[in-house]
Amino acid sequence: MLLSEEQTLIRDTARAFAQEKVAPHVRAWEAAGEIPRSLLREMGELGFMGMCVPAEWGGAEAGMVSYVLALEEIAAADGGLSTVMSVNNSPDCAALLAYGSPEQKERWLKPLARGEILGAFCLTEPQAGSDASNLKTRAERRGNGWVLNGVKQFITSGRTANMALVFAVTDPDSAKRGISCFIVPTSAPGSTTRPVSSATSRTTASASDSPGSTRPPGTDHSPRPGSLRRRINSSLWWASYASAPTQGTPVLPSVIE
Ligand SMILES: Cc1cc2nc3c(=O)[nH]c(=O)nc-3n(C[C@H](O)[C@H](O)[C@H](O)COP(=O)(O)OP(=O)(O)OC[C@H]3O[C@@H](n4cnc5c(N)ncnc54)[C@H](O)[C@@H]3O)c2cc1C
Repeated sequence: MLLSEEQTLIRDTARAFAQEKVAPHVRAWEAAGEIPRSLLREMGELGFMGMCVPAEWGGAEAGMVSYVLALEEIAAADGGLSTVMSVNNSPDCAALLAYGSPEQKERWLKPLARGEILGAFCLTEPQAGSDASNLKTRAERRGNGWVLNGVKQFITSGRTANMALVFAVTDPDSAKRGISCFIVPTSAPGSTTRPVSSATSRTTASASDSPGSTRPPGTDHSPRPGSLRRRINSSLWWASYASAPTQGTPVLPSVIE
């Protein structure tokens, strides 16, 4: 395949960045179990954290080929870092771009795509890997908000992310169609994480997450039950949680669409 001038430039930029700023430090980051946030911000400034996101939403608007070229170069230096980069780009930015409301894009997609914050994607559970719709995590309405209860597993950036897309069952009677996706700030009270050791991805800060039982009620959007099959694959319905309030008067959620 012949690369365009822009694709060649992006590949060469990623290669130089990976070899100069990543490769020499991987051993130290593996020992620490995570990547310095300053490096992720630098990657954001280079456009690597939202490569397929339009410029109006803070992305590089570089296209899928450039994204894959950059990802390959980062992976050649550290597979863990490329996993962190891909989760931020692919499930997180792509899902928000495809299904987020303008408010959600403004609040979450822009800083994710710029590398100002880091995203996680919480789908897998101990009993739900390949069989991704076999979720036990439940989301229940509590007042005007939602409470999520469950355990997630193998979550890339689970210990370091600022926000997470969390999948949970909102309507147990509707099987796969009763799964919704929530935008959850990781600062929300009630969640705990436990490191997961990995032989291959030591810098991903992977974690098992318990969304816990006390998510904040300050929901600013409510999810509609959605079909995992129809909508994530895809995918999604989600709710956006206001990060701050755990007490006080919750905002009545407004339904998306
Ligand atoms: C590096 C890394 C990063 C990850 N990051 C995330 C993340 O950020 N967020 C997240 O939600 N998850 C993440 N995961 C989890 C990943 O999505 C799951 O590991 C994956 O879905 C497989 O699930 P499992 O590990 O439970 O394996 P299983 O589903 O138990 O599969 C085990 C084996 O059985 C095979 N198998 C399963 N079902 C069938 C079938 N019906 N027929 C034939 N063979 C079958 C599989 O192919 C596999 O070889 C990550 C995993 C890795 C390795």
